[in-house]
Amino acid sequence: MYDVVIIGSGPAGLSASIYAKRAGLKAVTLEQNPMSGGQVLNTYEVDNYPGLSGIGGFDLGLKFREHADKLACEFKEASVRTVRREEPEGFTVVTEQEEIKTRTVLAAMGATHAKLNIPGEEEFSGMGVSYCATCDGAFFKGKVTAVIGGGDVAVEDAVFLARGCEKVYLLHRRDELRAAAVLQKEVMEQPNVEILWDTVAERIEGDEQVKALRIKNVKTGEEKSLAVDGVFVAVGIIPASDILKDVAECDAKGYLQAGEDCALDTPGLFAAGDVRKKKLRQIVTAVADGANAVTSILEYLQSRTV
Ligand code: NAP
Repeated sequence: MYDVVIIGSGPAGLSASIYAKRAGLKAVTLEQNPMSGGQVLNTYEVDNYPGLSGIGGFDLGLKFREHADKLACEFKEASVRTVRREEPEGFTVVTEQEEIKTRTVLAAMGATHAKLNIPGEEEFSGMGVSYCATCDGAFFKGKVTAVIGGGDVAVEDAVFLARGCEKVYLLHRRDELRAAAVLQKEVMEQPNVEILWDTVAERIEGDEQVKALRIKNVKTGEEKSLAVDGVFVAVGIIPASDILKDVAECDAKGYLQAGEDCALDTPGLFAAGDVRKKKLRQIVTAVADGANAVTSILEYLQSRTV
């Protein structure tokens, strides 16, 4: 019987495993694949994590994991299917490999990429359509690409791709970017990035590979085709909360409804990081969640033993 099973090994899960170990809890962190770090691994450069200015996302993920390993935190590679509540208390975490008994569960599953759901997106996925510029950008060296979205990820992707691509179109559905001001400034300084305002993608076209993107200006109604070799979709994230749908409350978008103490309504169940309903989704807030969650878990466990 574990004190806590932490599901997910992104910044929130890794921070929680470090705090849980230091608090003397019997804890295990479940990760779907052997590469800890979550979305951070796909970030080219992280410039807002205090003390580590300009560090590569992959390197930061490794550093988090090395820290946890140094403290001998326990990890298991496991795909979680569901979490079952037991009577009178505690949970069974059902994975594809085994069933794990625990007194509490910390959900730190993060989020996955949202899709555009336009014709051609699915068909050309992996053949010019990508959701990760840092993973796939190198295939488009000297080519023309389009990034869709106006948030931090889209703007970071456009800046990253501009380093190797001949030309990058950044398509945004409004006339104002959502991304942080510092990123907006950076993208506007790139000579080979053209921002197409008020523009949506209607269809991705090609043969064996992407060849064109059909776009529409939402203000003028004008439609045209852009000749592109690659399309990078960066239209937000979807919380990976599905495995908890039987035991926890989610909001309309699927975020788990926990406050700053990371406690969900179900006693013994906690949520941290991008899967939690919150205002600011950054590495630093995910890491803070991991610490807060373990503090709440300790309080919860102590309240059960007195
Ligand atoms: P996001 O901030 O939710 O932005 C999504 C963007 O996609 C928005 O500009 C949105 O337009 C647009 N969009 C959504 N659905 C669309 C559709 N169907 N068609 C066209 N455009 C669509 O998501 P994100 O950029 O993936 O970032 C996710 C979270 O991670 C955010 O909280 C972000 O702050 C954080 N993050 C932070 C950093 C950093 O601090 N350096 C880096 C990466 C990510 P509207 O603007 O019109 O809604």
